[in-house]
Amino acid sequence: MTTTLDQFATTKLASLDAASLRRRINPITRCPNAIALRDGQRLISFSCNDYLNLSQHPAVIAASVAATQRYGVGAGASRLVTGDHPLYRTLERRLADLKTTADAVVFGSGYLANIGIIPALVGAGDAVFIDELAHACIWAGAKLSGAAVLPFPHNDVAHLTHLLAAHPWRHAIIATDGVFSMDGDRAPIAALATIASTHGAWLMTDDAHGIGVLNAGRGTAHGTAVPLQMGTLSKAVGGYGGYLCASAAVCDLIRNRARSFIYTTGLPPGVVAAAIASLDLIATDPDLCARPLRHARHFTDALGLPAAQSPIVPLILGAAETALAAQASLAAAGFLVTAIRPPTVPDGTARLRFAFTAGHHEADIERLANHVRTSIMIAA
Ligand SMILES: *Cc1c(COP(=O)(O)O)cnc(C)c1O
Repeated sequence: MTTTLDQFATTKLASLDAASLRRRINPITRCPNAIALRDGQRLISFSCNDYLNLSQHPAVIAASVAATQRYGVGAGASRLVTGDHPLYRTLERRLADLKTTADAVVFGSGYLANIGIIPALVGAGDAVFIDELAHACIWAGAKLSGAAVLPFPHNDVAHLTHLLAAHPWRHAIIATDGVFSMDGDRAPIAALATIASTHGAWLMTDDAHGIGVLNAGRGTAHGTAVPLQMGTLSKAVGGYGGYLCASAAVCDLIRNRARSFIYTTGLPPGVVAAAIASLDLIATDPDLCARPLRHARHFTDALGLPAAQSPIVPLILGAAETALAAQASLAAAGFLVTAIRPPTVPDGTARLRFAFTAGHHEADIERLANHVRTSIMIAA
């Protein structure tokens, strides 16, 4: 018997199919050095955010296993109840040290961090100014807050200045990605910090793609006074979790007010231990941290593209079908590169998104660039 609910789902899926926008998840076995196995095929992955390959690092795995054996698999409760195992304080200390802030708060994920932080700080009568290309979970947090949500054109500081003056607000957050996740470019953080302090607004940077890979691992905001530095432990740090680095008072307020911190179970001890081990590697190995960007530059140089500003390099192809065909052509040549389609990116800007890691080999990057030049750029 088909219910109205099933009919609804089937119709929605058919319209996604018709627009080449239906997503499918494929089982993938990830191995060290950016190798991935899919349907029995060995692929070199340029689609993982594991920029330092730390998810596969022996010391990180060993730390995770040891903590699991000592403390168990799960946290057992939210952190405010009994889930605050001792490793949490160490992790928050390491994050604050890396970011040179007074304190840090760890969340279950980056998404949970953004949907918790923004509503804890602003509400009705306030405003959130957001770069139009900022990550979906910043928008989600801003909408949840009940504050006015005011997008500004990508990296357009002049337009933002105009908006700040044109709208009345009591408190305001200016929110931006440090590195834009689908474009790989960086926000003008110093200029944004100046504007924020001139207007008395609070700058929040999402450094999901900056920590571990820019400024010797310290991230995009390093060297600039940014009061709200959010990020994830799920990309270059190799594990899972999110964080906010901020002043002691702000972090304490967040522990008291952020609903996605309070009403959810703490991270498993093994996940926290892995992040500590990864941050130790990041803090002590600047050459490791520099490698993903170096590899991305190698690729953009080889193709005559604008020099990469981060480990992420987009190749915008336009139509979703074109991006899917390019993805298939790369897979046939042994490269795993994911096509990114709307609604993740704006309509008409479907693209290939290349993510470079420390573990890639230069010869493979050159083979990749050759394939892109001869089979994709010419066809497009
Ligand atoms: C991936 C990402 C997030 C979400 O982080 P998770 O830990 O995966 O939930 C947030 N912001 C940006 C910019 C991201 O790229």
